[in-house]
Amino acid sequence: MRMKETPKNWLKKIERIAKLKGTPVFILDHEKIRQNYKEFKTALPRVQAYFAVKANSNPEIVKTLYKIGASFDVASFPEFMVVYQNIKKLPAKKRQDFIWDKIIYANTIKRIETLHELDQYKPLVTYDNIEELKKIVKHAPHAGLVLRIRVPNTGSMVELSSKFGASPGEAVDLIIEAFKLGIVVEGISFHVGSQCNNFENYMQALQISASIMKEAASRGHRIKILDIGGGFPVKYNNKVKSFKLLAKKLNAEFERLFPKDIEILAEPGRFMVANAATLVTKVIGKAVRDSKPCYYLDDGVYHTFSGIVFDHCTYPLKAFKDGEKKVSAVFGPTCDAFDTISVAEVLPDLEIGDLLYAENIGAYSIASSTYFNGFPPAKIVHINK
Ligand SMILES: *Cc1c(COP(=O)(O)O)cnc(C)c1O
Repeated sequence: MRMKETPKNWLKKIERIAKLKGTPVFILDHEKIRQNYKEFKTALPRVQAYFAVKANSNPEIVKTLYKIGASFDVASFPEFMVVYQNIKKLPAKKRQDFIWDKIIYANTIKRIETLHELDQYKPLVTYDNIEELKKIVKHAPHAGLVLRIRVPNTGSMVELSSKFGASPGEAVDLIIEAFKLGIVVEGISFHVGSQCNNFENYMQALQISASIMKEAASRGHRIKILDIGGGFPVKYNNKVKSFKLLAKKLNAEFERLFPKDIEILAEPGRFMVANAATLVTKVIGKAVRDSKPCYYLDDGVYHTFSGIVFDHCTYPLKAFKDGEKKVSAVFGPTCDAFDTISVAEVLPDLEIGDLLYAENIGAYSIASSTYFNGFPPAKIVHINK
């Protein structure tokens, strides 16, 4: 265990790392990841956590989470291999003995080539329509199935439900069709969308899942797994509702709506990694435009700040130094005006070479960084690994 760190010591530490390693630098604290996992498991003891790798696919995160008992949700064959290659040499805990207990392939649309590659691992894969079902039966006959259903997602920051999910009305038919084709439906899944701040979505999704399971059972097909997806909100600000409250509501509904022996799994992505990373970036240029100070940084929207676009997220920038503050504009390093981090950031007067940092930037950030304009993604430094 590390010593309790004061905020001041922490700032000194990340400043030292930035000076030593150069910027932009993405500092990933593995102790935070372990704390997040523990918080999740403590609040939801019946739920096995399958970390959604797409939130941050760094292999070191996979190793850290696997060692403390997590499983994984992958969205592509490369992500599947990141998990598979990194955990195969590590000792398994009891729950992790079978491939299904390690990995779920939760992208409902899969290339035929991907199905061929996956089949040898007897994977657990999701589907939500008849065409995909036929593809799986033909090209990955050793897979187990999870039917993804469509659920309400109003109030989530990132909307994912409109693209995927069988409507509740067609769900039972899709289950029966699979069994007819000789493949087993192991579970039902949903995803309420990311950073879900409307807990009613989960409640309605559980209700829908329970009624589909009941109907399937009455027609001779008992479903063993309930997969409640991701969406667990991160406390970016005070408007975000408490995860503990959500967990309490979920636990009560598990008891009320489902058989005792059902296996429950979840796919938390953001929750495990968002607060585990801090970015340190440098002022590389400076100008005054329309009497507003403008700063140009060595990281931007095409890189670690990609979450501003794809994740509808903001990352307040903070300086290491004090001083009178002014509303300033902050830009990334590329030649595109789109590369604007903020047009109204409150910052002290900065010089070229000064450092800034952004916290809570661990999820959906570096994962979508590009090489646009030839600038590579930020370098990653792991601490407390
Ligand atoms: C992206 C995704 C997740 C992870 O969502 P978070 O909001 O990061 O927890 C989980 N399940 C599915 C199917 C996803 O697409």
